[in-house]
Amino acid sequence: MRPGAAIPDSARQDLERLLGVDRFLTAGVDREAYAWDNTGHRVLPDAVALVTTEDEVCGVLRLCQAYRIPVTPRGAGTGNVGGCLAVFGGVVLSTQQMNRILEVSVADRYAVVEAGVVNGDLQKRLGDEDLFWPPDPSSARSCTVGGNIAMCSAGPGAVRWGVARDWVLGLEAVLMNGEKIRTGGRTTKGVVGFDMTRLLIGSEGTLAVVTRAILKLASKPEKRYLSRISFASVELAASAVSRLLSARQIPSAIEFLDGSALDLLRRETSVPIAVEARAMLLLEVAGAALGLKEQVEVMLESIKNFQPLEWTQPVEGAEAARVWEARSALSPILKRLAPKRINEDVVVPVSRLPLLMDGLEKISRASGIPIVSFGHAGNGNIHVNLLVDPQNATIMALVGGVLDRVFRLVLDLDGSLSGEHGVGTQKRDYIAWELDKNCLNLQKEIKRIFDPMGLLNPGKIWPLTEVQQG
Ligand SMILES: Cc1cc2nc3c(=O)[nH]c(=O)nc-3n(C[C@H](O)[C@H](O)[C@H](O)COP(=O)(O)OP(=O)(O)OC[C@H]3O[C@@H](n4cnc5c(N)ncnc54)[C@H](O)[C@@H]3O)c2cc1C
Repeated sequence: MRPGAAIPDSARQDLERLLGVDRFLTAGVDREAYAWDNTGHRVLPDAVALVTTEDEVCGVLRLCQAYRIPVTPRGAGTGNVGGCLAVFGGVVLSTQQMNRILEVSVADRYAVVEAGVVNGDLQKRLGDEDLFWPPDPSSARSCTVGGNIAMCSAGPGAVRWGVARDWVLGLEAVLMNGEKIRTGGRTTKGVVGFDMTRLLIGSEGTLAVVTRAILKLASKPEKRYLSRISFASVELAASAVSRLLSARQIPSAIEFLDGSALDLLRRETSVPIAVEARAMLLLEVAGAALGLKEQVEVMLESIKNFQPLEWTQPVEGAEAARVWEARSALSPILKRLAPKRINEDVVVPVSRLPLLMDGLEKISRASGIPIVSFGHAGNGNIHVNLLVDPQNATIMALVGGVLDRVFRLVLDLDGSLSGEHGVGTQKRDYIAWELDKNCLNLQKEIKRIFDPMGLLNPGKIWPLTEVQQG
């Protein structure tokens, strides 16, 4: 997989001169910390560059291009698809020390931040002004804004506020040849030239290294109320989602948990769950306090036809936080309990959720591979977790075919292979299932214009056979 790209002595000396030996790391023990992401795969880079300024980013990229060394941008390494792993060797460029919040404009509702600012740190600072930046991945306490932008991340709040793409006004970034580019600006409107900001958002660090971002901010809702609604079947819960979305007030989250996810919560947390419940929705609304609780009640009334077994009174504050903690703990619990889990984050139009859940159940039954599903139902974005035992050769031989069936099902339902995790190395072999040939070719041409030598984050997004790498 990795042709190898050891750093020539002259390149190492130039890079050490630029950053100093404390920030250009080549010792094995230092590189180890940058060899991982949330896939659990280990890929040791040849060197790590800890940059602190945009000029240093320019310098590292310019030198690496001159020496033909691949560069892999990295934020906090929480990604799920191997995007920040140096699969072609070379330098991992870490933005973690570019972590200053440079400006918060309350009057114009934007913030200017460096790429390495941690999402949660930004939210704390903005909270002082009663503002927030809506992208809310569950990893917010550790992931960086640069990573959020590169992956177009979001969390439960996407049903109401959208994703990173909707909350970035402008970017500063550096191309592989070391040249800086500026896109967008500080205004909420602007139509001069192509929308380069949106091209860079979600490009998974393959087009440019983002150094700064101008983020659009929202007012913090005065109140948030959360209610748990349980159902006797996944189909009933999934069918209720579309109805909830037709309410006058758009919920700020509709999360879905299937029966197996509920079994895990029963075992591992203190969240009370009805014995007969085989599915649950977490419904959150946010906004001005006046009349908000009543709106929850109206929504709950509207889904009576879907025969909910029970719903809880809307809760807020610490009580709601306890439920959200349990929801966020599901991924780590699965990781701990299952010998191996394969986590796909497929997305379908919300009205097709019942068909998706039905199809997944059939695939699971036919293959004998347990599937645990939960996720952001308000966007139709479900985390489908296949639980397998790597020691069981018979089961492992089925995995490829089962994934193929899951992806085919999603595309037949007019969905997409990834709602938020992206492609990276994990889904590159499937990208042509979703994108047509002309669109794929155009994307590859765009990549060549930005990075003609294919040195920036090689081995990601496109199948290896189709793209010139390095
Ligand atoms: C427990 C957990 C929960 C999660 N929950 C969610 C969730 O709810 N929603 C969601 O969308 N994701 C979620 N994720 C995935 C992950 O947190 C997001 O993709 C996040 O945005 C990655 O940020 P990072 O700083 O860790 O980036 P990394 O993992 O370091 O990098 C991710 C990608 O971004 C690129 N990149 C990073 N910084 C830059 C930069 N400055 N310029 C250019 N490219 C760059 C890298 O090359 C790589 O391709 C979760 C992960 C974990 C571990």
